Amino acid sequence: MEIGKPTTMICTLLAMDQTNFCYRVCSVCERTLPDNPTSLCNFCNLNSFNSRSSSSNSRSSSSKLLFRILMSVASDTKVFTVICFDRAAKVLFGCTADEFFDFAKLHPFSAATTNKILEGEMIKVTLSRPKNGNAQHHRVSQIVPLRTGFRPAIETLKEFYGLRPGS
Ligand SMILES: [Zn+2]
Repeated sequence: MEIGKPTTMICTLLAMDQTNFCYRVCSVCERTLPDNPTSLCNFCNLNSFNSRSSSSNSRSSSSKLLFRILMSVASDTKVFTVICFDRAAKVLFGCTADEFFDFAKLHPFSAATTNKILEGEMIKVTLSRPKNGNAQHHRVSQIVPLRTGFRPAIETLKEFYGLRPGS
């Protein structure tokens, strides 16, 4: 794989790391925050402190979750691990990381079940070499599910746990 050049390939999704599937960022500037629902962004809060007079900036920032999932995939020639960030992961999950996190709080086995749901899915992935050359894994910049009738995991999960849309 050439450095800096995105590569597209067809893979089978083998497994996802269920223990650590998201991280917390500032909802305004998306800087990474400590993984604690009450953590605040020093940068944005400092900004809002300095610009009290402008009403749009005067409220303090909050945090949100973004997906970051290590997944193991198989191409026709090898098995390897990639890291999948929010935009690509949402294609598989069908919801935001916050929605999934809230769902998983009520249904503790959601992450493991999601792993089972998505295991074996054929996906077309676009991989890019991280700009930081030290990073260990290729990152997935895009995922396209190939199976006809693919459904995002959250839909199957809701059905699995007996929830109907709107109920
Ligand atoms: Zn911020």
